[in-house]
Amino acid sequence: MISRVVLADLPCTVGGYCVTNADGEKICVLNSRHSRERNLETFMHELRHRTDFGKNLDVNELERIRHE
Ligand SMILES: [Zn+2]
Repeated sequence: MISRVVLADLPCTVGGYCVTNADGEKICVLNSRHSRERNLETFMHELRHRTDFGKNLDVNELERIRHE
């Protein structure tokens, strides 16, 4: 489960991503340059990946599976 959401200055082409920190906390990083609406869309997208943490799968394959 995602325990925290933070904003960061990311490249405009990146909506966001999820990471696990050293304490095992799952964090969703959203782009501070994007609108609130766009970040909500990105957050909903990232929620689809909440079961992907720790899987050793190719990221492109995961994107294909999650969004087909
Ligand atoms: Zn995705």
